[in-house]
Amino acid sequence: MFENLIDQPASRLLMEDIHSSRLPPSMLFSGDRASGKLSAALELARILSCSVGTALWTCTCPACQRHKELTHSDLVIMGTRECAPEIRAAAAALVRSKNTAARYLFIRAIRKLVLRFDASLQDTEDSRFSKAASYLADIEERLEEFHPSRELPVDNEALAKAVEQLTVKAEKLEEDCLYDSIPVSQVRQAAVWARLSPNGRCKVLIIENADRMQDSARNAFLKVLEEPPPHVVFVLTTSRRGAIMPTILSRVRTYAFVDRSQASQHDVIRRVFHDTPRDGEYLYSYFNRFLPVPPEILTHTTVLFVSGVLNAAIDEGRKPLSSLRAALVATCALPQGESASAAEIVSRLNRCKPLAVWQLFLAGITRLMRDALRSGEADAREITVFTAWTKTIRDAQEAVETYNISPVSVLERLAESLKETL
Ligand SMILES: [Zn+2]
Repeated sequence: MFENLIDQPASRLLMEDIHSSRLPPSMLFSGDRASGKLSAALELARILSCSVGTALWTCTCPACQRHKELTHSDLVIMGTRECAPEIRAAAAALVRSKNTAARYLFIRAIRKLVLRFDASLQDTEDSRFSKAASYLADIEERLEEFHPSRELPVDNEALAKAVEQLTVKAEKLEEDCLYDSIPVSQVRQAAVWARLSPNGRCKVLIIENADRMQDSARNAFLKVLEEPPPHVVFVLTTSRRGAIMPTILSRVRTYAFVDRSQASQHDVIRRVFHDTPRDGEYLYSYFNRFLPVPPEILTHTTVLFVSGVLNAAIDEGRKPLSSLRAALVATCALPQGESASAAEIVSRLNRCKPLAVWQLFLAGITRLMRDALRSGEADAREITVFTAWTKTIRDAQEAVETYNISPVSVLERLAESLKETL
């Protein structure tokens, strides 16, 4: 049980509650990004479904087998997640190792995405559903080729090509069809699904990033939580527990997932992804290796955006920010006169997909401010400006992440707000 969840004390608490039959029907797994919340929820689903009862990872009962492949009909996932970087990391692991563990890693990474499009959750009138259906048929067919019962292509190049083709299809599915916040129609479908008897011992519904539910979806879900059907376990996950409504919090038990030490995170990279961690790397930054926007382009684009804001401010006769200008020059030298519109910036950032790209872009601006402050060159006015900027940047992050506003319009507004502070 929970053998693959490395150094996460929440798994011990869960095991104790399972063994003493005290596991509540509704739970919230709360903790930072990459702290193992979804892994724990999926493992919990397997443990509760195991028809033998021992639920070792090596259990060969049909229920455990289907859960290992994430094909059990008693399991659905709702909510958003950045699946692409993990799929890329798993794809690289499979091409490198070619062993059974790496196959499962890859299959599961893809199915963590696919499970969000389960037919039982879809409103058939929704146009995204029909679009997703065409991708899904293709993805399922390709996934079959990687099943542990099948031979992998012997030729390395052929294997890499098959892995790449499936990865690209999954990325398209995520980009074109995955909701940023759960639509209310999906919650209603899930309520119907939850009331039907399970095929095995118990049904598990996982809602990732439950804090990102909009009002109507949240209210519909609250009704389900108020009268939970028997044989159903709800697992909500969040990295922002404070953003979950008190009415929901009062109906779930929270399991806190700790931020694991760097050594433990390196262990995950080695043992789960069969890769070599780099100095100073954390699990989330390991996944950033696989983002579609390379780090040097991210840095360049951030510098380009900030220098655009500073130039526009000076053109309007506003006071310059000398310490920040110095930090920009030290970070990345821009060719004379290079500039870019908000739309061009967003396009260089792969339209801010996955969301981690947008977060890294904004974190880049914060890092420039920090460099300026550390240089000791910032005067009192500049320090006040940076404080105001920090809040503006946080609002911009929330506008895209939570309110699903287009990154181009958020970026245009961000440039204006930053400039007006000067
Ligand atoms: Zn089993």
